Amino acid sequence: MKLIFLGPPGAGKGTQAERIQKAHGLVQLSTGDMLRAAVKAGTEVGKVAEKLMADGQLVPDEVVVGIIADRSQEADCANGYILDGFPRNVAQAEALDKMLAARGESLDSVLELKVDDKILLARIETRAAETEGGPRADDNADALKKRLDVYHAQTAPLVDYYTGKGLLKSVDGMKSMDEVTADIEAVLAL
Ligand code: AMP
Repeated sequence: MKLIFLGPPGAGKGTQAERIQKAHGLVQLSTGDMLRAAVKAGTEVGKVAEKLMADGQLVPDEVVVGIIADRSQEADCANGYILDGFPRNVAQAEALDKMLAARGESLDSVLELKVDDKILLARIETRAAETEGGPRADDNADALKKRLDVYHAQTAPLVDYYTGKGLLKSVDGMKSMDEVTADIEAVLAL
């Protein structure tokens, strides 16, 4: 099974993807986590990504597409995976389609977590206050707001993109964490 979890920063995508992967034998592929590991390790990819990430901007498409193309072919992905934070724009979605088609594979579903901007902005302030000086250079209020703007401008069009392909399933991300997990399992028939 191949899934995409789509949603704005702070919607709880990563948390939900982690819960679902554990319960259903899938692997969570978070481009954000992989890029943060690359920055920490000081690799070439990390050097390209570091400043862009700290500013809340997207890392170049070819970098993330390459990461996903490699990682999704590793043995632990054989049973399926959840793409968390990828694709982030239509060009990445098209590259993913091409990659899967070349492998004779396809996506099963795209799960959208819907959360109002007002709630996200409140969560952003809380997260920025809680994590100041923490492990994520982009968890300050300015970068988080920038990430929300980037989401609306570049990532939200994917809702139409995947609706057009008949793959989109939406869940209210403003309920409790357990309710959201249950709704995701219901809507994906897991
Ligand atoms: P995330 O952990 O998914 O919120 O991602 C953190 C940051 O990593 C983003 O703000 C981007 O700078 C970068 N990033 C993660 N995934 C992608 C992607 N698919 N395309 C471009 N940049 C990404």
